[in-house]
Amino acid sequence: MAVTTVYGVLGSPIDHSLSPSMHNAAFKALDLDAQYHAFDVDGKRVEMAIRGAKALGFGGLNITFPLKEAALSLCNPDALSKRIGAVNTIDRGGAGFNTDGIGAVRALEEAGITVKDTTVLLLGAGGAAKAIAAQLLLDGARVLIANRTASRSLILARQMTAAIIDCGCGDVEAHGLVEIDRLLNEAQVLINATTVGMRGVLDGQTLVRSPQMHPGLVVFDIVYHPLVTPLLREARAAGAQTIDGVKMLVHQGAASFALWTALDPPVHIMEAAVRETLRRANRAENEDRL
Ligand code: NAP
Repeated sequence: MAVTTVYGVLGSPIDHSLSPSMHNAAFKALDLDAQYHAFDVDGKRVEMAIRGAKALGFGGLNITFPLKEAALSLCNPDALSKRIGAVNTIDRGGAGFNTDGIGAVRALEEAGITVKDTTVLLLGAGGAAKAIAAQLLLDGARVLIANRTASRSLILARQMTAAIIDCGCGDVEAHGLVEIDRLLNEAQVLINATTVGMRGVLDGQTLVRSPQMHPGLVVFDIVYHPLVTPLLREARAAGAQTIDGVKMLVHQGAASFALWTALDPPVHIMEAAVRETLRRANRAENEDRL
């Protein structure tokens, strides 16, 4: 009898992870005998969990908050994840990858944007911003990083300069948030990679309002809880094109899926599963509030 291949995501908290519904929908669509589960693992047990998954013959792992940096030394990371300093994907052989930046770039491409030679204003200098900046630069974009703590954007830009020297592509600058208005005039794409606007963290807040935006701007918020963030609402009011955070989530998941299975991921089915799970979770959340 064939043994079902198990995949999983490690992190903590993990109960709201959308990855199980996304990947299980993909396995079902491709008629694969595989199952994907979420495992609540903290920093103390991550090494044991990764070794255990390998010993048990897992097909692959995703690594999420707060383990992405710690997992780097527990696998054989590729050059990009080493540069980012974090992995979100491990294959059955123990090779590590970071597909977050690829997820963001594919979301932009799906919306019709050619990243090469495009000026992107990237808000944030945390883990997600780092992964996105690295991939944008590899793909030849001009990246303007603006962060609340300006010294962190400078550190990120310095790290990314090494990437530019290596690949001879892209261009990066570091700024503080006070420069947003001037930077927006130069940018064709605005990406929010901060936690601002995230439900339960910085509810209802946005770093940019519609009068600051030009109609040709593409506004991409990687926050997906809520799906329509205050920033995306402002962008719609300004007539700007918008991309929500589910697009990045799905494309990073699809890239992981392709690394594990060497198959073409059914991206639209994965996206539909994520959006349906989010709809159900929002309904339950609203009912709880009544
Ligand atoms: P992180 O490493 O903690 O970074 C947080 C960033 O937000 C920092 O740049 C921080 O600036 C900034 N920030 C926090 N509070 C702020 C405020 N009040 N005003 C201005 N800036 C503020 O977080 P992360 O892992 O990069 O994640 C960022 C967001 O992206 C989260 O909402 C996460 O859920 C989302 N995300 C989405 C996806 C996806 O697939 N769609 C993937 C990864 C992450 P300082 O440096 O000044 O503190």
